[in-house]
Amino acid sequence: QAKGDGRGAFRFFEAGMNAKMQLRRGLEIHLRQALGRGEFAVHFQPLVELEAGEVSGFEALLRWDHPTRGQVPPDQFIPLAEELGLIGSIGAWVLREACAAAAAWPAPLSVAVNLSPVQFRNRQLVLDVVGALGASGLAPSRLELEITETAMLFDTDATLATLRQLKELGVRIAMDDFGTGYSSLSYLRKFPFDKIKIDRTFVRDLSVTEGSLAIIRAVTRLAADLGMVTTAEGVETHEQLATLRAQGCTQAQGYLFSQARPANEALGLVRSIGRSMKDVA
Ligand code: C2E
Ligand code: MG
Ligand code: MG
Ligand code: MG
Repeated sequence: QAKGDGRGAFRFFEAGMNAKMQLRRGLEIHLRQALGRGEFAVHFQPLVELEAGEVSGFEALLRWDHPTRGQVPPDQFIPLAEELGLIGSIGAWVLREACAAAAAWPAPLSVAVNLSPVQFRNRQLVLDVVGALGASGLAPSRLELEITETAMLFDTDATLATLRQLKELGVRIAMDDFGTGYSSLSYLRKFPFDKIKIDRTFVRDLSVTEGSLAIIRAVTRLAADLGMVTTAEGVETHEQLATLRAQGCTQAQGYLFSQARPANEALGLVRSIGRSMKDVA
């Protein structure tokens, strides 16, 4: 009887695997063609300066409109693109799109682009950044590159060398999703990041877990001491905003202000968010 249970569980497991692999295969075929078919778009989410009450820039977030499934979240297709060796070409395209959009905004509005750890293992990355800046004419000081802690995990020396090359171009470097990976603190010692983005799990738990407030306070203070600015991710309520402001956080980003929107809506957001921040101040 025990044997029967085991086989049942095995079949169940197998069926689950098949569904997952089928989903993967379905996405894979389309993902290989997505760039060529123009199915990608870059959207922009505003970054709000808490002291000035102004939008100072946008984070570029990739969107994929799958022909039959509709919008597929990046958390699903970016890992697949990394595995399939597609992230290099997709990442280069995002850099060009983001820089071209930002070059049309009035200075000093800036744009932040996410980089995959896989892109860091290729020398092409620095050339792609130079190429995107050159083609758009965007000043390097208006481009920010976001990397997660996983990028620092492998090949640290090569990653550090690439980070230094990028920094020499005059772009800014931000550590994304801070506090969720391994040994976050040791990375801060290895490279002079310009910005720390505090992961949205800490913001989300602000009113629930007392520890989250302590962590946000400590990270904000630490960043200031290291000469780095801080962005709080995932700000959804006025209460969270007030707390972050009281803790001296530099910037906030989240649905409270806006989701990521197409490039042609960016300047409208700068105006409307600027107005509403004046009202609450
Ligand atoms: P991320 O870089 O940490 O980006 C922030 C994510 O949080 C975005 O999800 C954004 O839509 C979401 N977000 C912003 N405000 C709020 C909020 O108030 N509440 C909630 N619940 N979520 C909020 P998105 O666009 O789904 O992207 C997910 C991740 O995919 C990104 O996390 C980033 O790691 C990756 N990604 C997106 N675009 C690119 C890209 O062009 N290249 C690479 N390599 N990765 C990308
Ligand atoms: Mg990011
Ligand atoms: Mg993030
Ligand atoms: Mg995140």
